[in-house]
Amino acid sequence: MSNNSSKRRGLLLVLSSPSGAGKSTLSRLLLEKDNNISLSVSATTREPRPGEIDGKDYHFYTQDQFDQLVTDDGFLEHATVFEHSYGTPAEPVEEALRAGKDVLFDIDWQGTQQLNQKVGADLVRVFILPPSKEELEKRLKKRAQDSDEVVAKRMSKANAEISHWAEYDYVIVNDDLDQAEKDLFTILDAERMKRSRQTGLTSFVAELTKD
Ligand code: 5GP
Repeated sequence: MSNNSSKRRGLLLVLSSPSGAGKSTLSRLLLEKDNNISLSVSATTREPRPGEIDGKDYHFYTQDQFDQLVTDDGFLEHATVFEHSYGTPAEPVEEALRAGKDVLFDIDWQGTQQLNQKVGADLVRVFILPPSKEELEKRLKKRAQDSDEVVAKRMSKANAEISHWAEYDYVIVNDDLDQAEKDLFTILDAERMKRSRQTGLTSFVAELTKD
């Protein structure tokens, strides 16, 4: 009997949070530990931070390059965040999904809304909250890659980002990193088990129950 019960439709996992809630750390852990998910590398017009690599962390584009891709309909979604343009190039995502892989997105609420309109049921939306306002500020300062002015601006934007929490399917309060990581894997594992995503089941069950 051929066993194709493991065939699965790829999913799109979105992680959103205010800056400093631990989203980047959780994304990194997920990508390190799970071979079936790859990161959608966004394009942005902001300056690279120290240590960031073009093509790995972001595709760093000029405004002209970015606008051209918008005109060419090359983005799955795009938005303005902190006065810079950010967008998800469509091609690599479509390629990963065709190969049966899941794709992870580190995008804001605006991008999540646009993706939801485009891909609907294939989307799994996770929002990460910091345990407190004080902790969020502390984490932003500790990161110290941005100037005080940028930190202050991001704090003031945090409330705006947080106000969209209820548009997400899952919420993780990142008090303890180990627990937050476990929670994220629980969500991913359960979503992968959804009947609608297990595309090989119909023929598998037909074989199972054949006389
Ligand atoms: P940062 O500049 O700190 O890397 O990112 C700032 C914000 O932009 C984060 O909330 C991040 O999730 C969001 N962001 C990054 N890439 C994209 C993207 O491709 N689309 C959208 N809509 N937001 C993005």
